[in-house]
Amino acid sequence: MIAPHWKPLQKRAVGAYLGVAVGDALGATVEFMTPREIQTAHGRHRELIGGGWLRLKPGHVTDDTTMSLALGGAILEAGRIDPVVAAHAFDGWMRSKPVDLGNTVRRGILHFRRTGEPVAPPDEQDAGNGSCMRVIPVILGCHGGEDTLLERACLHQGRVTHHNPLAEAGTWCMARLVRMAMAGEDKSRMLAGPVEALVRAWPMFRFRVRPEITHPSGFIVETLRAVFQSFFDTDTFEECLITVVNLGGDADTTGAIAGMLAGAYYGVEAIPRRWLRALHPPVAAACVDQALALIEAAPLPVTG
Ligand code: MN
Ligand code: MN
Repeated sequence: MIAPHWKPLQKRAVGAYLGVAVGDALGATVEFMTPREIQTAHGRHRELIGGGWLRLKPGHVTDDTTMSLALGGAILEAGRIDPVVAAHAFDGWMRSKPVDLGNTVRRGILHFRRTGEPVAPPDEQDAGNGSCMRVIPVILGCHGGEDTLLERACLHQGRVTHHNPLAEAGTWCMARLVRMAMAGEDKSRMLAGPVEALVRAWPMFRFRVRPEITHPSGFIVETLRAVFQSFFDTDTFEECLITVVNLGGDADTTGAIAGMLAGAYYGVEAIPRRWLRALHPPVAAACVDQALALIEAAPLPVTG
């Protein structure tokens, strides 16, 4: 699955995409559990064993990964990043009867079906993490492009379902962090740049404050606080992912987002081999293929 001749950028891009899938598969086992319940059931949860409320087979993934792949496939086929391309991708994904489907996502896609409008109505209340969990294909598809291009691409894919300023700010911060990680920047610069900017605009994202987040909900603020504390306060891909999923809550999604960031930062070779071996093979292959194809084609035009 890992080719030795890959360039550092390819290793980081593939690491980020496989990180989404591995984190999703690892976290799905303990989604909606509290840390105490996880401890009782699994001790420290650290293997891709499936199960969870979705009764997954070992190594299988959920909407976080499959929505990313639907979006990435559509972007590659269209050769551009566009709101209607994204909306059609999600619509087709919903028709494929996914194993899980968030309420905000369902509402946004139904709105598109009804109206043809690829932008959900603004929603001040519902700042879910659904637009952040699936952002990897647009980050890779905008590689080498201006920041403003990436920002627009994030909004295009996000607003199909999540039209909310907090969700947008969180997703944009994460996109910038992954972009910096792919460029080989270190954690102190990531903290001083995108994280500091996010916290200045929206202080509720501040992390390393008591009480620390446990069982983070699907609210983007709790999700990203959990991801930040797990990524910035550990030193390996494996430790970061095990830390974040053992917090429980929306663990498949915190796992997917932390996996994306840590995979970009540490590179694919840092992902434990046992996790890559356990990951559902067609999903793993699709992540690798899309990651390589997207950075090859990048920067794609952003239209609409
Ligand atoms: Mn999920
Ligand atoms: Mn989830």
